[in-house]
Amino acid sequence: MAAVTRDPKAVWLGQTVARAGFPDIGAFADAYALKPYRLAQLYRAATRELRPGVEATTVLPLELRRSLVERGMRFTSIDPVVVQRSNDGQTSKGLFRLHDGSEVEAVLMEHRGDRTTVCISSQAGCAFACAFCSTGQAGFTRNLQATEIFDQARFFAAELATRGKRVTNVVFMGMGEPFHNYAAVMDAVALLNDPHGFGLGHRHVTISTVGLVDAIDRFIGEKLQVNLAISLHAPTDAIRARIMPVNRRYPLAELLAACERYVRATNRKVFFEYVMLEGVNDDDDCARELAALMRGHLYHVNLIPYNATPDAPYAGTSDARIWRFAGVLEAAGVPVTVRHNMGRDIAAACGQLRADTQPKVKATAK
Ligand code: SAH
Repeated sequence: MAAVTRDPKAVWLGQTVARAGFPDIGAFADAYALKPYRLAQLYRAATRELRPGVEATTVLPLELRRSLVERGMRFTSIDPVVVQRSNDGQTSKGLFRLHDGSEVEAVLMEHRGDRTTVCISSQAGCAFACAFCSTGQAGFTRNLQATEIFDQARFFAAELATRGKRVTNVVFMGMGEPFHNYAAVMDAVALLNDPHGFGLGHRHVTISTVGLVDAIDRFIGEKLQVNLAISLHAPTDAIRARIMPVNRRYPLAELLAACERYVRATNRKVFFEYVMLEGVNDDDDCARELAALMRGHLYHVNLIPYNATPDAPYAGTSDARIWRFAGVLEAAGVPVTVRHNMGRDIAAACGQLRADTQPKVKATAK
């Protein structure tokens, strides 16, 4: 499929004016006799200057601002319900309400140095029912729109800006399956990336997927420098199918073949996430089988300590066993890191929203 050229300004304006009750951008512009540069000013104020709303967009005439506010034009499509900060101040978790009452979570992680990562949701709920995941257990509600996805990053960017910091990384590792909401996620990526808007480089964005092969092939066609992470979680079909129902539709061989096509087409690394579940996928045999699947490819394994959730019957692997597992991979020459958990005290955890995609802890074979 051919790469789609997405116009982030049109996406943002279209969805923003629709929320204020206009059929389209043209009808909105006509209603207020707005020249294109005025539309560009609105877009810039929201996405680049991170202004809270029309009222704060001082480049616009006061009268215009007033009537737009009266009309109900708002920059954000999501409203924070609660924002909690972890005791160490490094992790903030936000719960956001959408216009129809659905709720999604996003997490901000402030690493040492200036690196910050926002973990965002692409759907309310999720249709893939991974056995260990609390979102998966709760089922699917609906797809988010591009602005609803983007606004999670915008919210934390505005908060960081008050402290002189910025968002340096965005990961699609919150609720939902990004490749099951493909078009909106690609529009959100365009909004994040736009040099005239939010301005986050593609290389600083990571999409994490359960492994939808058709969507991976479509994504290859986009020719974006966005990072791809695959939730692998098991080295055999038997184990994977038990914890990830999607494996019945796209078994490992097909999934790994798609990853090979991705590497060949893009010459980019694939990141494999592997959540460590005690007694399920964490013994030495699994480590050796995983090493065999990974060896010789441009692949990187990220071992994830499991955040136990009340609704799933799994326990996390001990740290000692995680390091042993990592040691087997490393001895086999497979690049491996162990994810550093953040924000456990505020359940940034919650089954999903723990995430540090470019992990810091390097595994050593001991
Ligand atoms: N649907 C996408 C993205 C959302 S989840 C995907 O599956 O990749 C992001 C990552 O968190 C996935 O690897 C997912 O398997 C993992 N995850 C889900 N529940 C978890 C939990 N309780 N503890 C640790 N990781 C979890």
